[in-house]
Parts: sequence; C-alpha cells; structure tokens
Amino acid sequence: MTAIATQEIPLVDLRAQYATIRDEVRKAIDEVLDSMQLTIGPNVKAFDQEFASYIGTKHAIGVGSGTDALQLAIRACGVSSGDEVITVSHTFFATVEAILYANARPILVEIEERSMLIDPAAVAAAITPRTKAIIPVHLYGRGVDMKPLRQIAQDRNITIIEDAAQAHGALLDDGQKAGAAGRVNCFSFYCSKNLGAYGEAGSITTNDDRLADELRALREHGQSTRYYHPVIGYNARLDELQAAILRIKLRRLEQWNARRREIARKYDERLRGSGVIPPEIPADIRRHVFYTYTIRVTGGRRDDLRKYLGEHGIGTQIHYPVPIHLQQSAEFLGYRKGDLPVTEKVAGEVLSIPMFPELTDEQVDRVATAIREFMKAH
Ligand SMILES: *Cc1c(COP(=O)(O)O)cnc(C)c1O
Repeated sequence: MTAIATQEIPLVDLRAQYATIRDEVRKAIDEVLDSMQLTIGPNVKAFDQEFASYIGTKHAIGVGSGTDALQLAIRACGVSSGDEVITVSHTFFATVEAILYANARPILVEIEERSMLIDPAAVAAAITPRTKAIIPVHLYGRGVDMKPLRQIAQDRNITIIEDAAQAHGALLDDGQKAGAAGRVNCFSFYCSKNLGAYGEAGSITTNDDRLADELRALREHGQSTRYYHPVIGYNARLDELQAAILRIKLRRLEQWNARRREIARKYDERLRGSGVIPPEIPADIRRHVFYTYTIRVTGGRRDDLRKYLGEHGIGTQIHYPVPIHLQQSAEFLGYRKGDLPVTEKVAGEVLSIPMFPELTDEQVDRVATAIREFMKAH
C-alpha cells in the first residue's frame, strides 16, 4: 500500500464534464426558469431541429426517455398484439420492455461474438409471416451493419427501428449516422449516455412526415390540437430544462466522441497482449462512439479482475450480466439456458472499464497497468 492514496477512477465522471460547461448550463437553466415556459416550448422546438439536423433526418421528436422513444416508435409503426419483433437478448432491458408494452412478442436472437452485435444470419432464420419489425441495437456505441438487415427486411414489409440509445454520432456502413437508417429510430439521453441530460430524456428520429406528426401527437396524449384527442397517446414529453441543457451539450458531442475514440485507441495499444480481449475497433473508427469500452475476460477470471480493479479504486460495470432471455420477468417467453450460447458466453466475459471524454491519458495508463498486472498474475 502506498502512503498517499491514489485518486479513484470512476467508470463515468459526470462532474468532470459538468465542470467544463457549468456557467453555460446555469445561464440556460436560469433563462428557462425566468421564462417559466417549462413544457414543449422554444428549447424543445430548437433542440428537435438541431438534433434532426445533426443526425441527418427530417424530424426529431423529443420525448421523456429512451424507453418512451422505443415505446412510441414501436406503436407508431403499427406493431400490435400477436406481432413478432426481432431483437437481441444482449442489450439493455428497455429494448425488450418496449416490445412487450405493445403486446407484441420479442424474438430474441444471437449476436456475433466479435462485434457483440445482432447476427444477421440469426435474424434471417427467425423471420416468420408474423415478423413486423427488427430492432438492431448499436450496443456500446458501435453501429450495426445495416446492409444485411435491409436486405432481409425489404420486400417483406418488415420495419427497421434502430435502438441508437448508445450510439449518438456513430456512423453506419453507408456513411449516414446511426439513427438515420431505420424508418423510426430511438435515442436515450440518460445521464451517462454520450449525449446525456440532467434528468430523463430521449428522442425519435424519422424522415417520414406522417409518422413524425403522429409521434408529436403521441408524446402529448394523442392530441392534434389542445384538448382534442383523436388517438390515445402518452405523457412522453421532453421538458424545456432538459432540452436547454441538451442544446449546449449537443454542440460538444463531436469533440467528446473524438476524445472517446482517442482513449479507445490508447486502451487498445496498452491492452495488446495482456490476455484480455479489447473491443474490436472498426476499420473506420467513426463507426464507433465508445459509449462504453467493454473488454472480454475469458477463463472465468472476469469477476476476480473486477474485484481487483475495485480494490485499486477503478470503477467497472458489467453490461449486461443477465441476458434478457434469462431474466426472471421474461420467463413466460419460454427461453431456456443454452438457447443463445454466444450471448450467454459473452455475458459471462464482458467488463466495461472507465470511459468518458475527460479521462486523462495518465488515468488510462493506470487502468491498463492494473489490468496487465492482474492478468500476469492469473
Ligand atoms: C439507455 C438505453 C435505453 C433506454 O433509455 P432510457 O432513457 O434509460 O429510458 C434503451 N436501449 C438501450 C440500448 C439503452 O442503452
């Protein structure tokens, strides 16, 4: 033990980022409070336009959370009782929750081991006459290869809904941004995401004018004009305070993503030959925005490494320890252990290590050194 305690390195440090934008954020919050326009107002309207223009779609519809975004998107695409929606089991729970809210049946398919993203061959094998939609998840910030999915969906009248909740700014195979490829696409601005609010927020992007109108109505109780409700909707509004904060942060997103990529490259160099499997960096690194930097640790050593790093003041997380098909609440879907072997194997190996734009080179070194030390001894 060293006499001077070394500073802890958290998984994500939101305070470090806030320190860089504090004055601007506080001014914006003051302006919203002075105006007392707290719900759909100038900031939501402006942010919707600015976010759509950033992603490269005609419309963005700000909503209350990423889960709201998925729920409204799925509903607007006409998914209903008896329909099947194909997605991965290796994702955050909300992807599948939203399918269940529509009373549709989630069909959970395998991932490819190297990318840890949806396996197009598994999607093709899971198509039935009841398949209504496919939800690719750009997990960890890496854009899914959309071309094979597009080929499967076209001519079959199957809708693609992107879950881009972890991929703000990631490019896809054809050069467009994640969130511009599907018919409707979903973002979360949960506080830890690459673009994070200081509360709950999300957005839906689309190029379809009719769907955009429908989504704008759905986020406000299905009303067309005030107090006229042609459909039953939700209270799923983005609020003015969050929109004002998001506008400030959106202007820095590219710069923050660039720093995340720089950190990923440094980790990649320093972890080579250490015995852990670093995440694959796509040939065009702009296809990854490193929401998380998720390594794999084989040989049943993951939990011990996690404990070791914890003891050395290094924060980690497991994204995600239990695949959806093995969650207690999903038991009624009838999946069994062994149904998705790649997913289950990966869930036992993944470990996310500190990743946020304000992480210093020195901190990256300390994390990598600690991992190397543990792996050498085990
Ligand atoms: C964060 C997240 C969501 C849900 O977003 P919330 O804003 O927390 O409701 C959905 N899907 C994925 C993949 C996510 O990471």
